[in-house]
Amino acid sequence: MDSCFNPEMNIRSQIEKIISDVFESLETEYWDEPITGIAAGDDSYYDFLKEHIGEFHWTPAEAFAQKYSDVPDPSELRVMSIVFPQTENTKNLQKQESLFPCENWVTTRGEWEALMGIFCERLERAFAAKGIRSVCPDLLAAMKPMDSDNLGHSSNWSQRHSAYAAGQGTFGLSDGLITRKGIAVRFTSAVVEKELPVDGRVSEDPYGWCIRCGACVRRCPAGAISLEKGHDKAACSEYKDNYVDKHWAKQIKIEGYNFGCGLCQAGVPCSGQPPKQGPVNYRQIQPSDNPQLAQLVRLGLKGYDLDIPGTAYFDLQLDRLYEYYMANPDKRSYFVAVNDRGRVLGGIGVDMFENLHGYAELQKLYVAEDCRGEGIATHLIEMLEKEAVRLGYKGIYIETHSNLQAAKRLYMRMGYRLIERPEYAVHETMDTFFIKELGDNK
Ligand code: SF4
Ligand code: SF4
Repeated sequence: MDSCFNPEMNIRSQIEKIISDVFESLETEYWDEPITGIAAGDDSYYDFLKEHIGEFHWTPAEAFAQKYSDVPDPSELRVMSIVFPQTENTKNLQKQESLFPCENWVTTRGEWEALMGIFCERLERAFAAKGIRSVCPDLLAAMKPMDSDNLGHSSNWSQRHSAYAAGQGTFGLSDGLITRKGIAVRFTSAVVEKELPVDGRVSEDPYGWCIRCGACVRRCPAGAISLEKGHDKAACSEYKDNYVDKHWAKQIKIEGYNFGCGLCQAGVPCSGQPPKQGPVNYRQIQPSDNPQLAQLVRLGLKGYDLDIPGTAYFDLQLDRLYEYYMANPDKRSYFVAVNDRGRVLGGIGVDMFENLHGYAELQKLYVAEDCRGEGIATHLIEMLEKEAVRLGYKGIYIETHSNLQAAKRLYMRMGYRLIERPEYAVHETMDTFFIKELGDNK
């Protein structure tokens, strides 16, 4: 069945491309491109959820068994958590409201189930076409609201908890999940039978990315969030049922429409990205950085329409950068920028460039979208140049793409010379080339 995939290209990236294509087919103006995280089918976090939420909460194998009678060993399953970010437009409209959600918010919530019905059906079909058995819990007839002794309103499959398990982010004070695309998001997921690299949690602290700034407390018109007690689910539901539903139901009369409030998810520091935190630290790559780095590279390239063959997007080693760079430490190195909550903000690599004697290649320089313009890339390049000298290189060569205009300006500012495409160039997709003699630093 794997013959459906190109063995020369990163399998995870090929799967992400399937998700991206299904999203594009929705032609929705309401949601931004989704981001994906992957948890192991035998992740012990699902045992914890049975205790925390209730015995009724499915493990991935139990969800899979709702559709297939022959369920493989849980270790052969993966949970793909898919996060849909609200658009900038919706977040901007929502943050101007203080009592009731804006119309876009109400519409995105109200039409969510129908949209996910289409998305999940198409996704299951697309996976089946590649020989992958999959189950989207959102499509399961047995998926239903449940009452949890601990948490009140719940269901047999928590999309938010699956997202946390799959390394999409951490919870915030308002109980939403703060993802790389912020807290103004919605979720779906698919349990798939496919060996894929798993993303570790971004923080073992389930609230690691929340800075407890209290902005969501101030945004909540119902007093349903406090720094002391967190999110009061009952007060939140009561506000929705008694005020939001009644306010909007006058304008929108669609049978079974689900209304939501979400005022605490816009006009707050974590709305569109994890909030800014403490000082940035720079260090060598560690094994636990692998998932966050791979996501950073994929998101970075997608943002410039470079999620195409011939770029790092499909590199076989993308999900194992630590192993790749540490396999030859006399020639290679990789540095990351991390904040004090373990979020990887950027990274840069160096490796011998075989086609130009004595030169290293600068590789995989990426900085998270919300952290650009803060000097992180400059610092990473400076570190890399020192490292290249230590490794004995006399110069650095770069292959990049003209879509990456900010990077091009940065290289020029840091003394890299733009050159014509050299005969020794490697990546066909790249169209912009730089070189710098390291003696220039002395
Ligand atoms: S607004 Fe502040 S306190 Fe509330 S979830 Fe976001 S980071 Fe946490
Ligand atoms: S959804 Fe609305 S009522 Fe509920 S906590 Fe957020 S702001 Fe408050």
